[in-house]
Amino acid sequence: MTLKDSRDLYDRALSVLPGGVNSPVRASIQPYPFFVERGDGGHVIDADGNRYIDWVMGLGPLLLGHDLPQQVQSAIQKQASAGPMYGAPTEIEVELAEFVSRHVPSVEKVRFVNSGTEATVSAVRLARGYTGREKIVVMQGGYHGAQESTLVEGGPESPSPSTKGVPQSFAEHTIPVPFNDTEAIERVFEERGEEIAGVLVEPILANKGIVSPVDGYHETLRKLTREHGSLLVFDEVITGFRVGGLACAQGKFDVTPDVTTFGKIVGGGFPVGAIGGRAEIIESFTPSGDVFQAGTFSGHPVTMAAGLKTLKYAAENDVYDHVNDLGEQLRSGLTDICADQAPEYTVAGTDSIFKVLFTRETPVEGESHCEAGCEQRTDCARYTRCPKTGADVGNTEIERWNRLLWPAMFDQGVFLSQNGFESQFVSDSHTEEDVEQTLEAYKHAL
Ligand code: PLP
Repeated sequence: MTLKDSRDLYDRALSVLPGGVNSPVRASIQPYPFFVERGDGGHVIDADGNRYIDWVMGLGPLLLGHDLPQQVQSAIQKQASAGPMYGAPTEIEVELAEFVSRHVPSVEKVRFVNSGTEATVSAVRLARGYTGREKIVVMQGGYHGAQESTLVEGGPESPSPSTKGVPQSFAEHTIPVPFNDTEAIERVFEERGEEIAGVLVEPILANKGIVSPVDGYHETLRKLTREHGSLLVFDEVITGFRVGGLACAQGKFDVTPDVTTFGKIVGGGFPVGAIGGRAEIIESFTPSGDVFQAGTFSGHPVTMAAGLKTLKYAAENDVYDHVNDLGEQLRSGLTDICADQAPEYTVAGTDSIFKVLFTRETPVEGESHCEAGCEQRTDCARYTRCPKTGADVGNTEIERWNRLLWPAMFDQGVFLSQNGFESQFVSDSHTEEDVEQTLEAYKHAL
């Protein structure tokens, strides 16, 4: 592919945008990112006129793909032409809140905000305000956006900021634990249960490869938080209205959190976030409530129109059947390809999310499970990246992804997430032909 225009745009961008981009992952690809001109169905076309099958889908929000159905487009245009926003309530935000609370088992009330980060920031404040406690438990390898309370690494006894700009004194209010490790979370609650405001967890780790919960893990979190008067907060920014369809991952796993954060799909491709949950907890956000939360753009009418029409379209058509079916075709095709020709890679995902992950070593014949009882086909103790906990990969996977797999796929016209940890997303606009071409490209790339 020639990327002359992208290169010129990147040169211009570098002089006015830090790193030439507005979010760091976009600059992961060397020597420069490609600039998109437009989307078309399940594809994107770059500034140089090249076409790619797009499995990034805006990093997850585009459940319907780039070609929005006519009724979604009309709703967006109608709202935009009625004046973009008012700083006063509108009917459409009530309708979207009604839709969310009707379909998501744990949500009685919801507050809309403008990004997933804003949702998790507010959820952490809510958990602290509601319980009167300060500590937040998070999972190592989990991601909750660019916020102080969760940009923290280390273990339960040694949390430290994962970026400059977060004070150590902030990090000390966060307790990172290994995902899927029941003993570790039980120990933390036994020792400090009365200090813990909440456990903030992605139902499936989706920013560290894709790591699914082991059986019973979420039930353990639910039981411990209940026993100790802490809140269970599911971060469904990625999984919401994707995994488990309209009931979200909490419906799929049959676990009822106290609070849920949403983003991505719920705004139909426009900036959005939301915090939903039991009425009595979310009521803390009322004007006379205890926890301050506010935003100029919150409940933005154009976003609300896009989100509502997108979700209604998904509810009334076979969108989830289609995207989950293609997701399954991709995962099973990729599993065969990896088994045949690249056993050091493993395939992860569920519903309409998929990912090929590099693991350091070729699995040893006959060793199918790790000592921790992981059901994956690999011996995770031997791997750079443990498929069970998402625990540490260091730079190896990123390096392999950025330098080898991503460019090899891109050269064949397939756009994957620009970071070795992030997921790939199927949309309603993708076709079986896209799947076949992508599998063929993986065969060559791997
Ligand atoms: N939570 C999760 C699970 C996410 O994956 C993300 C972003 O990818 C966020 C929160 C932050 O959302 P946003 O990027 O919209 O701020």
